[in-house]
Amino acid sequence: MALHERFVAALLVATLFAGVVEAEAPPTGPLPDDATPLSYDLALKADPRAERFTGRVRIRVRLAAALDHLWLHGSDLDVARIEAIDAHGAVHPARFTLRDASGVAEVSFGATLPAQEIELAIDYSAPFNAKLQGLYKVKVGDDAYLVTQMEPTSARYAFPCFDEPRFKTPFRVTLTVPKDEVAVANTRPIDERPAADPNWTTLTFGATKPLPTYLIAVAVGPWDVLEGPTLPPNSVRRNPIALRGIGPRGTGPQFQWILDQTPMIVKYFEEYTRQPYPFDKLDLLGAPDFGAGAMENAGLIVFRDALLRIDAHSPASTYRTAFNVTAHEIAHQWFGDLVTVPWWNDIWLNEAFATWAQGKATVALKPEFAGDLARLEGTLRAMRSDSLLTARRIRQPITNVGDIQTAFDGITYQKGAAVLRMFEEWLGEDTYRAAMRDYLARHAFGGGSADDLIATIARVSGRGAVLANAMRGFLDAPGIPLVHTELTCSNGAATLSLKQSRFLPYGVIDNAPVQWSLPVCIQLTGGARSAKQCVLLDRPQRDFKIAGDCATAYLPNADASGYYRFAMPAAELARLTEGIAAFPPVEQLIDADAVSSSFIRGDTTPGELLDAMPTLSQAATPEVATALFDQFRWIRQYLATGATRPALDAFGTALYAPRAGALGLHRAPADTDATTQLRVRLVDFLAFTTHDAALRRALNDQGRLALGLDGGGTDLSRIDADVRDDALRVTVQESGAPAFQAILGELAVNHQTRERYELLDALGATHDPALGEEARNLGITPAVAVGELPILYNNHVYEPENVDAFFQWLTAHYDALATRLPDQYQSDIITVAAKNRCSTAQSDQLREFFAPRVSHIIGGDRVLAQSLETIGQCTALREHVGEASLATWAAAHPIH
Ligand SMILES: [Zn+2]
Repeated sequence: MALHERFVAALLVATLFAGVVEAEAPPTGPLPDDATPLSYDLALKADPRAERFTGRVRIRVRLAAALDHLWLHGSDLDVARIEAIDAHGAVHPARFTLRDASGVAEVSFGATLPAQEIELAIDYSAPFNAKLQGLYKVKVGDDAYLVTQMEPTSARYAFPCFDEPRFKTPFRVTLTVPKDEVAVANTRPIDERPAADPNWTTLTFGATKPLPTYLIAVAVGPWDVLEGPTLPPNSVRRNPIALRGIGPRGTGPQFQWILDQTPMIVKYFEEYTRQPYPFDKLDLLGAPDFGAGAMENAGLIVFRDALLRIDAHSPASTYRTAFNVTAHEIAHQWFGDLVTVPWWNDIWLNEAFATWAQGKATVALKPEFAGDLARLEGTLRAMRSDSLLTARRIRQPITNVGDIQTAFDGITYQKGAAVLRMFEEWLGEDTYRAAMRDYLARHAFGGGSADDLIATIARVSGRGAVLANAMRGFLDAPGIPLVHTELTCSNGAATLSLKQSRFLPYGVIDNAPVQWSLPVCIQLTGGARSAKQCVLLDRPQRDFKIAGDCATAYLPNADASGYYRFAMPAAELARLTEGIAAFPPVEQLIDADAVSSSFIRGDTTPGELLDAMPTLSQAATPEVATALFDQFRWIRQYLATGATRPALDAFGTALYAPRAGALGLHRAPADTDATTQLRVRLVDFLAFTTHDAALRRALNDQGRLALGLDGGGTDLSRIDADVRDDALRVTVQESGAPAFQAILGELAVNHQTRERYELLDALGATHDPALGEEARNLGITPAVAVGELPILYNNHVYEPENVDAFFQWLTAHYDALATRLPDQYQSDIITVAAKNRCSTAQSDQLREFFAPRVSHIIGGDRVLAQSLETIGQCTALREHVGEASLATWAAAHPIH
């Protein structure tokens, strides 16, 4: 019994000891400051055909105080050995204990080590991640590839680390791989030699510049490597930089177009920043499966390969998208990689910077891609989520991993970029550029926060606290300013009165109103343009004199550069709209948004909105011509009845079918980007919103031809790439099971990622209950890659007919779907399930299902709250406007 008693006593001691240790809660926010990583040596041994890899990491760490343990990150890692080697070379066996499910681990030394520099040596193994995070594996036919995605907090799946952006250190990476595999990392290899096993090779890569863990990348597999044009030296950089495109086996030549564009993009940012491209080479790697669109890893940018692969059968939009995404990721090499935000609350700065800079580069280098209109459409999309009371702020406090994972939204990217641009317009491009150069030079290879940036702009511009307060107002409060304008005249002089409030959709009341310091610029007349007049609206109301008179048409958001909406008296808006064709396209689009936002506020009837469409439908630019399509679709879905829908459809078809007919379904050699974009937008609207029967017949013919339904087998290249997606969707709806089965067969053998997206779009578009079930079930099998899931399901619920069936299916298959999704995208299930819902009952149904689950969905609480609010806003507007108002309009618009 003595033994037993001693055993019990030992257990008690152990329990007490454990109690003492656990008194220190694991840090789920920032790690403590007492241990700082200084450098990493990371050696990975990985075979893409295996299921696991091994690693050895040695991290030099500065202990700022005497410590017996430290905290770091590691998820799904099987640690075989861990040692702490002190400054005298003494080895202390250590212990690695996972203490929080988000990957917070405690390393205890077994003794107290005085403040000093130590080295942590950790041997471990881990599975290749199945959810596109950390070091993950993708299969393409019989080929297997390894790719990494570390941002925001997935480096911890690949190696033990201090997984925070403020810790920037050099990394020395070594990869041991089967000798027939191609292996790449952030830097160029400096040594390659046979490994101990002659079937393996060991590559040693040069030490990186100081980088945070989230920018580390490696890739292994049977990659095609296409050498690009070298980035030649210029006035900013003395050394040439090697450029390569890297893609799955056989795809190398498809990277030629983007490689040819890349040198001018790099040069643009070098000249803008006066900082040379910061790294020793540039690889653009197209991954066959990827969670995001692309990732700006230093020197090794990883994309969804569909975004970069271009050949004779690519849609015209691919060129524009490839250019924009590449410009965005290359901009990050300075904005994010050279200067990195210290903590995730400022992640907006990385993304807003890159989005803003990308827009500048596209406008400057590729005028044919109409970057100014694309940028404005992005801003208007962000305004939808910024209309919610539950909207995130640009600079949102971050307290846990869920906040980090949901920080990558339209507010961070598009609103952040729009705010940067608004202040750029206010201060002038030269002043702004000088401030940006100052900021980058001061913080190069280190960290820089929003406060650092604001201080720099305030100092360089000489605007001091006025500027700083105005910028902070936009970062730290959610919402869109609404500027009410009104002209009054006395003795021939015109005064413009400006009042500000928060833009809110119908029925929404804000109990905590915000006041902005808002740069407002007014453009008088569209034709012979006068100088714009700008004022800082830094109080609730301000009057100022304008150069015109009371008959002047004016636009209260010159160049569409302000992040705000406006409302004006009906007569003034009518005067503006009447002469709007003389204004530039971005201002025409802002004017159309004024019509649309007035409808959202419940101030405009459906008839008034529809009356604005005939003029817009003739606009030369596709963005303006199609500006009210979303509102039209909303009216059709939520206000139209069996009695009014025919008149509405006939009206929409009559407005747009002639233009679509003139364009036809085939790209002509001389077609510009605007022409092809207009064609795609019109075809999509007519086929899926007004259901133009003639066009749907023509698309069904095209889809049948591509799928070989009338003989000849499937060959997607038989039809025009620009309308292929629409044609396949219509064909699944019109031709039913044979089309669906042909697409399933093609999906099993087709490895062209873009074509796969089109095939999945088409499967999701079915309205047939049995085929719909088959499509939904496909998403929980390996037939659909993880990164393809959003494409299948988003398009499925885009069809209102599928909303209920999807929800029923989800209640039975939720776990199977959730386990496939990467951490960062788990909450997307809520977004998908919430789509096309617009009633209290539908809102209740969503809440009842997800409320008990949100605590297990990363970032789920915020996404559920936003989804419910979106449905609530839709429901309120639907009830306010009512079906009768559309009936009045329909009675006045009989079908001829
Ligand atoms: Zn980005």
